[in-house]
Formats: sequence, C-alpha cells, structure tokens
Amino acid sequence: MNAAPVVIAGASMAGLRAAEQLRAAGWTGPITLVGDEPHAPYNRPPLSKEVLAGKASFDSLAFRPRAAVADVTWNLGTAVVRADLDRQSVELSDGTGLSYAALVVATGMRPRRLRCPGPTAGRHTVRTLDDARALRTALTEPGARVVVVGAGFIGCEVAATAVALGAAEVTVVDPLPLPMAGPLGELLAGALKRRHEQRGVRFALGAGVTGFEGEDRVTGVALADGRVLPADVVVESVGSIANTEWLDGNGLDLTDGVLTDEHLRVGGRPEVVAVGDVARFPNARYDGVPRRVEHWSIPTDTAKHAAKVLAGHLAGAEPGLDPFAPLPTFWSDQHDFRLQSFGAPALGREDVRVLDGDLDGDVLVGYHRDGRLVGVVALGGQQAAAAAARHRAELLQQPALTA
Ligand SMILES: Cc1cc2nc3c(=O)[nH]c(=O)nc-3n(C[C@H](O)[C@H](O)[C@H](O)COP(=O)(O)OP(=O)(O)OC[C@H]3O[C@@H](n4cnc5c(N)ncnc54)[C@H](O)[C@@H]3O)c2cc1C
Repeated sequence: MNAAPVVIAGASMAGLRAAEQLRAAGWTGPITLVGDEPHAPYNRPPLSKEVLAGKASFDSLAFRPRAAVADVTWNLGTAVVRADLDRQSVELSDGTGLSYAALVVATGMRPRRLRCPGPTAGRHTVRTLDDARALRTALTEPGARVVVVGAGFIGCEVAATAVALGAAEVTVVDPLPLPMAGPLGELLAGALKRRHEQRGVRFALGAGVTGFEGEDRVTGVALADGRVLPADVVVESVGSIANTEWLDGNGLDLTDGVLTDEHLRVGGRPEVVAVGDVARFPNARYDGVPRRVEHWSIPTDTAKHAAKVLAGHLAGAEPGLDPFAPLPTFWSDQHDFRLQSFGAPALGREDVRVLDGDLDGDVLVGYHRDGRLVGVVALGGQQAAAAAARHRAELLQQPALTA
C-alpha cells in the first residue's frame, strides 16, 4: 500500500515553499499540491507594479522550479472543497477523495468586493495573473479615467502604475483621511500622500463609495459626500478575505484566516498546519496576539517553521523548536520611490519619530511602543531602504513586548 501523502491545499508561493521546506526538513514521502488556479506558482508583487506597467512579462512571474520538489504531484485547476480533519481526508472539486498523513493549509486570500449598486463591467481587482492581464488591457486604453477604491498599499501601487501608463486621470478614494495610515501612521502617510500628488495622483479621501454609475458598464463612482467621479476603469482594492470555507465544519476558529498555535498548528492537531497569508498566528516577538500578515516574506518564514514541525511529527518527534517569531519585512514600490519596512510599525503608531533624513526627501521613521523600537519604515530611494535594513539587528534583539 502507498504511504499517504502530505497534502498541500493552495499551490501558490506558500504552498510551493511548504513543499520545498518539507524536503529540506527530511520528509521523503509523497507530497500532493492542490491549487485551484490553472497556473504553476507565480510571484504576485509585480502584478501591481512591473508586470502591470509592461516593464516585465507575465511569463517572468513563474517561480523557478527546484530539484528538491521535482517529484511532487501537482493537481492544478482543482479546488479542495471540503476537509474532514478527524478522518484525515480532503475532497477535491473533481470528486476525488484524498487521505493525508499531514495537511498544509495554504489557500491564501481573495479580494474583498464592494457591495454597491451599479454595473460590474469596468470594475477590476488585482490578485491573480488573470486579474492583472485584464487590468493592464483596461489601463492601456487611451485616455482612461481611473478610480482606485482603497488607499492601501496595493491601491497606491496601482495608482502609481496607472499614472506611468499615461491614464488621463487617476483618483484614489478612501473613507479614511490618509493613504496607508493603518500600517504607517499619520506622519509618514501624509508624506506619502504629498509624493503621490506631486506625481499626478488625486485623492478623494474621507468619503466612502455608495454606488457605481452607468448602464452596461461603469461610467462613474458615487461617493457618500455627493460627489460623482467620472470613471472608465475602477480598481477595487479594499482588502481581502481568507479562503477557508473548505475547512468549515471542523470546529476551527476561522474568524479571520485560520487560527494557529505558536508552532503554526491548527485546531490542536499536530498533523495540520497553516502557512502564508491565510495563517493567523501569535508572534512570540510581539504581544502574542494572533494576526495574519500579508507580506511576501511570510510564506517562506511560515513554511520553514511549519515544515520542521510537520516533518518532526511525521518522524514521531516533538517540535523541539522555539515558538514562531518572524521579523516581518515588507516593501512597496510606488512611482520612483520605495517603502521598506522591518518589524511591526503598526504596533508603534502612537510614538513615531524621524530617525534620519526629512519627510520631503529620503526619510527613515521609527515606531516605538513603551519606548522600545518595534518597527522602522524608509520612504525614498535605495539609500533609505538600506538605512532601514541597518536596523534589522536591533529589532531582532529587542525583548518580546510581553516580557
Ligand atoms: C498585487 C499584489 C502585490 C503585492 N505586493 C507585495 C509587495 O510589494 N511586498 C510584499 O511584501 N508583499 C506583497 N504582496 C503580498 C504577497 O504577494 C502575498 O503575501 C503572498 O503572495 C501570499 O502567498 P500565499 O501563497 O500565502 O497566498 P496566495 O498567493 O493567495 O495563494 C493561495 C493560493 O491558493 C489557491 N486556493 C484558494 N482556495 C483554494 C482551494 N479551496 N483549493 C485549492 N486552492 C485554493 C488560490 O487560488 C491561490 O492560488 C502582494 C500581493 C498582491 C496580490
């Protein structure tokens, strides 16, 4: 009889990294990856930047295949529709049932959509390769008037790319008074807004969207304060929803992603782990409050830790590891500048200090909690990003916030 595989649900970055790290951690048994997209795993950050701008090709997004995972079984274009964690089995959209020795939850996020009245044609999101293809076609129509709903990092990136592509008008709408104020705090968010405005982006802040105008396709965006913004292309960038419905009925906490313990295990089960954007984990480095982290560094960090935990369990050993305590890192390219973040700035939003430079040039900002540095963000060119990186060691040495 064949040994049961490790089944990885979700065949994107976190799923791929989990497979690679399982091999690195010594699991030599079968691995089956199941992914509902038809594409092999690809890199998402360029979808709102280089690839959307036409500076890199869609083909360049694919992750390079590594020899260590040449023998894994791929089930692409197939969703996991149900899981029975007591029976250690999953059901796929093609009707197949799969028993597993261990399960890796790597199903990530999908874009939240606005539930407002009006036409849907002309409204876009950007999460997948197919989304980005459709958006690029729309943005390269001559004279396009673009409204980006949501002033988070993806909204700001898409607005910058739309300007670079020559859109006639680009307006970012958000009910909050500043872009990216949640992760950055008001000081840096204000500087970010000024830079966007200097490069041609308009903002309509402080009012939410109430509806979309137009018959067959969108022609305008109506705001709560009565304004109507003319629009040929709307990009909805209003957050994301975790893909966890397939885990319903197993008694798990799926409030916002999949709740894990300090070793990324799910529901008290040593053979089930969650990785990537979908994992809501306590970070021993901070206050122990479980949070999801949608940063590119997290699929790899979570996969490394979870794979050691699983491989140990499958070999009959306890984890013997320190609790998971990654240092989150994040970057965002917008126009000709980069935001580069290390640590957890959002936890230190109440005590923000300029550490280097000035807010109209290259600047490095520090975020503090109880007087301790918990995060740094640089805004500017390569030198600012390098200055942020120099604080990594200091951030890594800080005692846990709960200590
Ligand atoms: C446009 C964009 C730009 C970004 N830019 C940056 C950046 O500049 N810097 C940064 O740090 N981070 C950035 N990120 C974030 C980073 O890309 C994500 O954190 C990372 O891609 C998460 O990977 P993941 O594998 O956990 O999730 P996902 O990439 O969401 O992968 C989950 C996969 O599972 C599939 N799936 C879902 N449900 C099922 C199911 N039931 N069965 C089977 N398969 C399923 C999904 O279709 C998807 O393929 C960006 C993200 C996006 C979308």
